[in-house]
Amino acid sequence: MLAPDFDRDQFIGDLRLKHARILPADIVFNVENGWLPLIAESLAEIEAALDRHGSVGQATIRQIKEKLGDLRIYIGPSREGYQFSKELAAELAEIRIRSWNASMVTCEVCGDAGVIDSFDGYYQCLCPKHAGQRRAWISGGRIGDIFQD
Ligand SMILES: [Zn+2]
Repeated sequence: MLAPDFDRDQFIGDLRLKHARILPADIVFNVENGWLPLIAESLAEIEAALDRHGSVGQATIRQIKEKLGDLRIYIGPSREGYQFSKELAAELAEIRIRSWNASMVTCEVCGDAGVIDSFDGYYQCLCPKHAGQRRAWISGGRIGDIFQD
């Protein structure tokens, strides 16, 4: 679970500084707060893998987002035509699968244990509390904030 005083802007600001070598300045963290720690872990692993292969500067994070209920972190070469070595590509794939798997059991809102479910056709991984809030928001006519806390 996230700390009660979790500060999204501060957390993302820290990640931008710490991983400036792989995060473009305009990258958007297109997920709720519960997944930010997973992203922090993945970025550290990605940067460590690039360092081990002498490939920092040749890779950049392209997108960080939720899709069909799970977390996607897309990495690509910094220059067109550059290809990662087979070993590096395999390591990056492992990191991607690990964060993807973790996101499928982690509430996107609060970081507690969650499951992916369909909310009127929109898939999201939520704990029982936040799933209940999302359902109440839908049945209440989708007015105001989806999640209360
Ligand atoms: Zn939750």
